[in-house]
Order: sequence, then structure tokens, then C-alpha cells
Amino acid sequence: MRALRLKPDADRRLRLGHLWVYANEFDGKLGTLGLTPGECVELVSAKSQSLGVAYVNPNVLIAGRLLGTPADGFDGGAWLRRRIDSALALRARLGVLEYGRLIFGESDGLPGLVVDRYGPVLSVQLGTAGMEALKPQISAALQSIAGVTALVWRNDAAGRELEGLERESTVAWGEVSEPVWIEENGARFGIAPLSGQKTGWFYDQRDNRAALMPFVGGARVLDLFSYGGGWGVCAAVHGATSALCVDSSASALASVERNAQASGVSAKLTILKDDAFDACKSLRDQSQRFDVVVVDPPAFIKRKKDAEQGALAYRRINEAALRLVADGGLIVSCSCSHHFSAEGLLDALNRAARSIGAHLRVIRRLAQSADHPIHPGMPETEYLKGFIAEVRR
Ligand code: SAH
Repeated sequence: MRALRLKPDADRRLRLGHLWVYANEFDGKLGTLGLTPGECVELVSAKSQSLGVAYVNPNVLIAGRLLGTPADGFDGGAWLRRRIDSALALRARLGVLEYGRLIFGESDGLPGLVVDRYGPVLSVQLGTAGMEALKPQISAALQSIAGVTALVWRNDAAGRELEGLERESTVAWGEVSEPVWIEENGARFGIAPLSGQKTGWFYDQRDNRAALMPFVGGARVLDLFSYGGGWGVCAAVHGATSALCVDSSASALASVERNAQASGVSAKLTILKDDAFDACKSLRDQSQRFDVVVVDPPAFIKRKKDAEQGALAYRRINEAALRLVADGGLIVSCSCSHHFSAEGLLDALNRAARSIGAHLRVIRRLAQSADHPIHPGMPETEYLKGFIAEVRR
């Protein structure tokens, strides 16, 4: 294994647990060393101390990701199995071994690897050349999880191209017939591991949906950016009188209908295919009001430079949503943009409320579910935040 030296001070972040090395933190030009993308190297500080083993890709900004100490051994799969076992032990403890995110990349010490489980089916994302190089070992290690009969590669995220990798969405082994059914918060959801958004389901909101359920009895619920109806269908199961799911995707709404039926709440569910901003406007024109409005949009801020524009979008959608909340009702407002802090979201929410003369009382702070653990040395692993607030006029 080759040793690569870092610039002075570049080791400071790593010593605090961070796992990434940026291209400009290497001593000398990475591109001139003839490294293969995904190759394992030993990282050495400017003072010649070993920092551990990382895989590298000279063609991307996050050029190195730390895997462990040299003693760990990265080729025989033993390291991989230890890390996977540790990830599974935590999920067993959380009670989400059958339906949940089994591996959350860097937070589980497995940089670039994400695994979601839908009962017998695993949906796996390999985000980097380093993880791609371990593909056969990953496939073999995951095959030994009890009750798992199929594995899908969901290697179609945009970042793959930067890493120099093909994009694919394929069955690696076993048989997958969609939908694959999961249970969550007392409801049933049919998942499309091969063609659904991201890996197929947003488990990161599971704990937050659970936090809302005590408040939905007798409520008229509006679920904006509903995808498969995670919030709306659950609410209907937990005693809401009606739920309207709004999404711009026809296939997402088709799954809402299927999920409502499987959960026995079809009679309470309505779907609306529309842009969420436009839908809010037309609902307002019709003088419709809801007791609970959920705002769970896709990331409006994908890169740091979109921060200002994105903050405005959060403010606008929350303002439109707040106009639809009945006096004394609740708003659930979320952001999955890493570059938007909880304080930023709260500020957007407050400004939105003030601009329409509403007053908020925050009763819950929301975060990504426990099976998306946060690495305290890596702020990048924390991305989902939200609030449940009561609305008074
Ligand atoms: N609330 C969902 C996750 C939302 S993901 C859950 O709990 O599982 C974001 C969703 O927003 C996607 O389903 C996407 O189709 C939808 N979407 C994106 N832009 C939209 C827009 N402008 N109007 C309505 N829906 C939109």
C-alpha cells in the first residue's frame, strides 16, 4: 500500500473524527501519482505520523475517505464485516432491523455506502469509486443477513458520474417483484426499490411521523410533497378524518392510493397532482382549511451557493402553507438541506408567520430518524431538521 503525505494541519480535522480529505489537502498533486480511483493508501501527516488507511479518487474534490487503521486490513472483507455487524447491532437495538436504514455511510464508518432494507429486499447505494471497488465483498457480506433474499443496486445518484462510475439500477441477486411491502407507524407502504425516488422510501422521517401521530386525531390533514403518503396515510391510520396528499409526481400519487388501500384508509385519502406552491394557492382560493399541514419538500438548497435563494423558497412555501392552517392547528415544517440550519428554517418559519400575522408556538423539534445516526465529527452527516408548531392568528 502506498503512503500519501498530507499538508501541515490537514490532519487536524481527521484527528477529531472527520473522514474526508479534500484534494488540496494532499502534499503535491494527486493527479500526477498514477492512482487508480478507489485505491487504498496509507495517509501520513506532515510530521510523518500514520493517520490510517483511506481510499482515494484523484478526480474528485473529496479525494480521500478514511476507513480505519492500517491494522484493520481492507482487502479480505473482515473490516467490512466488522463495520456491517456493528451497524446491524445498532439497528437491532433500535428495533428497525427489518424495515429501516441499515447502513448510513460515514456515520457507520462505511464512507460512501448506504443500505435500506424493505423486509426481504435490500436497496444499496455505492456512492464512490472506493466503495465500488468493494462491490463483491459488500454483496457477499449483505447476503448473510437473516431474512434477506434479494439485493438491488441503486447506483443512479448523480455523484456517481463525478466519481467516474456508471449509473445503474439493477437486481444483483434474488427476485424483486414491486411493490415490496413495509410496515411503518401502523401503516403499510408498497415500495419500488428499483424505480422509486432515492432508495425507494424516506425512512429518515419515520421517527418524525411518529412524533406527529398523537396530534392527528379528528384532524383534516394536508400532506404537501407527499411522495408515497408517509405522513398522510399514517395520519389517516391514526385517526385523522381526512388527508389530502399533494405531489407533482404521478407515480408517487399512484403509490399513495395503493398505500391507503393497503392500510385500510382509502375512504379518507384524496390525492392532488400539482405543484405544491400552486396547490396552496388554489386551496386558499377555495377557502379550504386544515388542522395539520405538513411541509416536507425536496432539498431546496443543494449547494452552498443556493443558500439565499433556497431560504427564500422555504419562507415562501411555509407562508403558503400557514395560510391554510386553521386557527389553533399545527404546521409540520421540514428541511433536508444540509446547508440550511435548524435556526435558518425556524427563522424562515417565523418570518412566514409574521408576514401573515400568525403566531407560532413550537412544540417539537424534529431530526433524522435514529437509523440515520449523526457522526459528531462530521457535520455533513446531519441534514434533516424540522419543527411542529401550533398556529394562532
Ligand atoms: N414527504 C415525503 C418525502 C418527500 S420527497 C415522505 O415523507 O416520504 C419530495 C417529494 O416532493 C417528491 O415526491 C417529489 O415528487 C415532490 N416534489 C418535488 N417538487 C415538487 C413541487 N414543486 N410540487 C409538488 N411536489 C414536488
